[in-house]
Amino acid sequence: MEKIVDLRSDTVTKPSLAMREIMAKAEVGDDVYGEDPTVRQLEEMAAAIMGKEAGLFVVSGTMGNQVALLAHTSRGDEIILEANAHIYTYEVGALAVLGGLLPKLIEGNKGKISPEQLKKAIRPLNIHFPQTTLLCLENTSNFGGGTVISVEEMDQLTDVAHGYGLKVHLDGARIFNAAVYLGVPVRELVKGVDSVMFCLAKGLGAPVGSVLVGSKEFIEKARKYRKMLGGGLRQSGILAAAGIYALENNIKRLAYDHLLARKLAEGLAELPGLYIDLDTVQTNILMVDIVREDLNSTQLVDILKDEGVLSSAISEKRVRFVTHRDVGDKDIDYTLQVMSKIMMAK
Ligand SMILES: *Cc1c(COP(=O)(O)O)cnc(C)c1O
Repeated sequence: MEKIVDLRSDTVTKPSLAMREIMAKAEVGDDVYGEDPTVRQLEEMAAAIMGKEAGLFVVSGTMGNQVALLAHTSRGDEIILEANAHIYTYEVGALAVLGGLLPKLIEGNKGKISPEQLKKAIRPLNIHFPQTTLLCLENTSNFGGGTVISVEEMDQLTDVAHGYGLKVHLDGARIFNAAVYLGVPVRELVKGVDSVMFCLAKGLGAPVGSVLVGSKEFIEKARKYRKMLGGGLRQSGILAAAGIYALENNIKRLAYDHLLARKLAEGLAELPGLYIDLDTVQTNILMVDIVREDLNSTQLVDILKDEGVLSSAISEKRVRFVTHRDVGDKDIDYTLQVMSKIMMAK
């Protein structure tokens, strides 16, 4: 097999030579002592971009989300999430194990909940009830298919939540994809939320890391929880340098990732046996449903793999493709060619 087109996730991106060079030269110190200047620079830069007071470098999106939950809530609180939220479905049950939290799930539309649904989900004060203290949003929505929540929709949801005394955490693993899609500065999109986690190691192309931002007081608490979870790092400026490079150089490229996803979606939508809701193809994630009896997602993923194209089986009939900076136009052409051969056969 000469070439592999890896469309499983944007996490598979590898650091470029230029990024590695910057990493090698990074000035470092012991970050647990607060002495790594490069980590501090990344945290300040992230806070400024997001329009928040402070930032915290964490090793993964999962760690960022979970320290945020710990810092915002108390054990036994109820938190509101969309039913397919990454924090609920894909973080090993940490909200229950680590936070002692109860999830209240709302079935959204393409990863989005409405202000009315939110209002209904918030518990009134009653001695019998757990207290609802946090709303978690996800933008873009991974399992919604990379779908975007607009500035207006974000504002409406955060207004309702704050009106009832809830805090709002944004799982913004791909918030830059959302901002690029909407053509708005990212700080505008997150202005109403109390905290944001975003990933450096997805479409932005860094090898490791996410950043959590919020108020000074919140980040101080989160820093302590990060240490508790074993996330107190030492000369992590090596990693933070890649994050700084990613924020300075790799945001623009996301628009092209979106273009490639769109091209793939439109090509696949023409093939028999597949269904794609083109309205959901807004950013770099593409969900494809198989609509024939004799093929399921794991079979399709295996056949594609034999042809050098990697994808993910999300459910029995659903396959996910994700575009990113390590795939190009020719790779999409090749994927379309292979998919056409598979779907036209039989
Ligand atoms: C990838 C992802 C995360 C967590 O990322 P890890 O770094 O893999 O822990 C969180 N939320 C969403 C929506 C994601 O897509």
